[in-house]
Amino acid sequence: MVSLLEKAAAQPRALTHRELAEVLAWPDASALFNAAYDVKCRHVGRRVAFRGLVEFGNVCEKDCFYCGIRRGNANVRRYRMDADAIVRAAEWVCKAGYGSVVLQSGELTGEENAAFVEGVLRRIVAVAGDGFGITLSLGEQTEETYRRWREAGAHRYLLRIETSNRELYARLHPADHSWERRRDCLGALRRCGYQVGTGVMCGLPGQTTDDLASDIEFFAAEDVDMIGMGPYIPHPDTPLGRGVPWTPADAKDRLELGLRMIAATRLYLHDVNIAAATALQALDPEGREKGLLAGANVMMPNVTENQYRADYQLYAGKPCLDENASVCRACLERRIAAIGEEILWNARGDSPHWKSRLDG
Ligand code: SAM
Ligand code: SF4
Repeated sequence: MVSLLEKAAAQPRALTHRELAEVLAWPDASALFNAAYDVKCRHVGRRVAFRGLVEFGNVCEKDCFYCGIRRGNANVRRYRMDADAIVRAAEWVCKAGYGSVVLQSGELTGEENAAFVEGVLRRIVAVAGDGFGITLSLGEQTEETYRRWREAGAHRYLLRIETSNRELYARLHPADHSWERRRDCLGALRRCGYQVGTGVMCGLPGQTTDDLASDIEFFAAEDVDMIGMGPYIPHPDTPLGRGVPWTPADAKDRLELGLRMIAATRLYLHDVNIAAATALQALDPEGREKGLLAGANVMMPNVTENQYRADYQLYAGKPCLDENASVCRACLERRIAAIGEEILWNARGDSPHWKSRLDG
């Protein structure tokens, strides 16, 4: 009899909802990870694409209950890098051979912010050239703003839906945060010609395996090109994380769930880019490498200047707070070589799914 893992590996989107939930809870985790790794090797090889992550500001208009830099957290020292500093960071990423940069920040809307980001994008394209990938992760914006930024040189956009379960979403956000608006943003991004990425947090309070299976089906229904997801990690200064006890066993369980989610997503979707999120490394020093071995193919080394890193803490235990980008680069090279993977230098590392979508 063909096992569910073989069925999933043979063809994308081959599993029913029930089967997907069964795969997520597969008793032999190594077998699950190995099956997903084989599918990844078939589509992208034993290769990992890098995107240098610049966390350029922690000022946010929103108040998500789980996030350490939410508007309501008065314990955060707020910062916003100026345009020169962001362009310098992107230039460093380009010269380091990473091939792509991710610009991420708290969510700010309005003309001043739209014009600021547009100006930064034009300057990055001028110094790094059009072959250099630019991903944005700046939250919900109007379609006009998304279009403006796309025209200024951004190629990809990452907007996590956080959970596909609307009721759970409502419990994790204030009443004026809308799941539907976030979902509609994914459509707008698509219309503007971005490679579109979404994702969820896993291990949220009240979230079930069924929810996670629905999350993966949501990725498929939205036909996204890239997935950036990771374990939820409580932050003590947030409504959701306050007073939550934390033990090494919790870290281990959350890591395993994150890896299972990567593997099941790879087995269901086959050819999308999947990032090994930094949150995995917060739970285990080798968490991101484990993510690559469970089916992820993208890593986002943090290149944010040291002086800001501690002020961009979404969750407790953020790694590499006192390491600069050059140290991270050397450390990553060693880590990738140790698991027998190759770094895709000086390449944008576009999603194979996006390429086949373009080819029709
Ligand atoms: N503000 C933009 C947005 O929300 O799309 C981009 C930056 S936001 C910090 C990036 C992601 O961080 C969110 O989509 C969320 O999934 C993740 N995040 C926030 N708090 C987290 C936590 N406590 N544990 C794990 N991930 C978290
Ligand atoms: Fe702001 Fe994003 Fe954090 Fe929500 S997740 S509070 S939008 S930075």
